[in-house]
Amino acid sequence: MSNITSISASNFIRNIISEDVKANKNGAQVVTRFPPEPNGYLHIGHAKAICLNFGMAAEFKGKCYLRFDDTNPGKESVEYIKAMQEDVRWLGFDWEDRLRYASSYFDQLYEWALELIKKGKAYVDSLSAEEIRTYRGTLKEPGKDSPFRNRSIEENLRMFEAMQAGKFDDGTHVLRAKIDMSSPNMNMRDPTLYRIRRMTHHQTGDKWIVYPMYDFTHGLSDAIEGVTHSLCTLEFEDHRPLYDWILDQLDAPCHPQQIEFARLALEYTMTSKRKLTRLVEEAHVSGWDDPRMHTLSGMRRRGYPPASIRNFCERIGVSKNNSTTEMFILEDCVRQELDVRAPRVMGVLRPLRLVIENYPEDQIEELDARSHPNDESMGTRKLIFSRELYIDREDFVEEPPPKYKRLSPGSEVRLRNAYVIRCDRVIKDEQSGEVKELRCSYDSRTLGVKPEGRKIGGVIHWVSIDHSVSAEVRLYDRLFMKANPNKEIPGEDITSYLNPNSLEILTGCRLEASLNETEQGSRFQFEREGYFFKDPVDSKEDALVFNRIVTLRDAWTKK
Ligand code: ATP
Ligand code: MG
Repeated sequence: MSNITSISASNFIRNIISEDVKANKNGAQVVTRFPPEPNGYLHIGHAKAICLNFGMAAEFKGKCYLRFDDTNPGKESVEYIKAMQEDVRWLGFDWEDRLRYASSYFDQLYEWALELIKKGKAYVDSLSAEEIRTYRGTLKEPGKDSPFRNRSIEENLRMFEAMQAGKFDDGTHVLRAKIDMSSPNMNMRDPTLYRIRRMTHHQTGDKWIVYPMYDFTHGLSDAIEGVTHSLCTLEFEDHRPLYDWILDQLDAPCHPQQIEFARLALEYTMTSKRKLTRLVEEAHVSGWDDPRMHTLSGMRRRGYPPASIRNFCERIGVSKNNSTTEMFILEDCVRQELDVRAPRVMGVLRPLRLVIENYPEDQIEELDARSHPNDESMGTRKLIFSRELYIDREDFVEEPPPKYKRLSPGSEVRLRNAYVIRCDRVIKDEQSGEVKELRCSYDSRTLGVKPEGRKIGGVIHWVSIDHSVSAEVRLYDRLFMKANPNKEIPGEDITSYLNPNSLEILTGCRLEASLNETEQGSRFQFEREGYFFKDPVDSKEDALVFNRIVTLRDAWTKK
């Protein structure tokens, strides 16, 4: 029994659709849509809605539209429209020939508005915005009818047409639905359907002086597209009676079913285009694709595989209860995907010079190294071993604590894929005392062979000085220090939650030379350091830049 509950709780929408298909509702067709407003870039919350809408359509052999809900031209732009398409495609979904704009329905919506007026279901109100607010009442008190509520149908028609004809100033009149000013649901107290806005629209230019409101546009656009299941987030639950009312009054082609689900909120991230816009505009981040942002473009640039985001959305499920998802769940999905697919390489992030004194100066060796410990199909690569190497500064201490596994004076470690070495001498900067170089010796009998009866510490990674490339490496931490930066607290500014140490830039890192010739878009595990991705924007042929996608293990929950 508990099992059944958990399955149905994991995606109750799947169950509803499945029942509808079984009952042959809508002729067993499934049509969904992902309807973003193009007023910013898509974020991880939208990924949930995209996976749900496109995912359900695919699962039930239906169709999904990508529809721009562009009723608010002042905040929208073609840049956002292009970016959103790129992001949806990158996430792995295809709308085929089903790209739509709510604005391309404006003619039809206008006709429907006239129809509502003719049916006595809508009127032109000439109260000011402030008066409309006051007349609306409160949750405790019913609203009051506007003195303009009983205008004749003829006058309403004449005025609405005059609104569109540009006869009135912005904000002087609105078209309102005539429903019920005493409804307990505020959305039903004669909601505004159209307003006058002199604005050039990115799709329709200067054709329209009046623009429809979201609530009027949304359900009717769904109906035009033949949407069967209109999936939206919980805050629209109170709008559902209005959604249904509008469709019931008009001769719409069909009546989609609105179903609400919980928004995704992810710890330490912000899921609101409006707030993300502020971070970008005030340059708290480098742009919409800053790898610390959980926008789709930020995650793409950081190197998250799209499959890991899809897996994440499946794993968190869909429910009716708002909650905050922990960051390690997302990162775990990223690690899972990368662990299987990312070839292993070696990269030294904080190089310390190491000279093997008993290795001949003019000698080099080509060593074979496996690209994946568990997947032989990934093959091997050649590593060049030589007398002068780099290891990571953090793999050496002069005075090791007990059980120290890395290198220290007199101790032995194995160089990954190569020989056992011993540290014989430490060379320091005379003035600062900083360790500058290690002098070591190697044991030529230990290649792939475990020396008997000797205690070898750990395994450390390395590169050959002359056979490695230089790179900048960017390490990321959470962008916000606060677990729930979405929650607005009066008197607190979201920028005060920003983590000042969310980006660490390491220059002069040294990577296996093979990384110079990697294909754009490939992801690697730098052994012991995490998973990395060549930055698609800043990395150049002779100036490599790598982003750390994620660490090897969860470092967050420990903090
Ligand atoms: P934002 O506040 O970021 O602008 P929004 O809901 O206004 O969010 P829209 O562009 O209107 O953004 O959203 C498009 C679709 O994505 C809607 O169906 C919306 O419900 C869904 N969506 C937006 N944010 C989330 C989220 N955090 N979790 C799940 N779905 C979301
Ligand atoms: Mg919105």
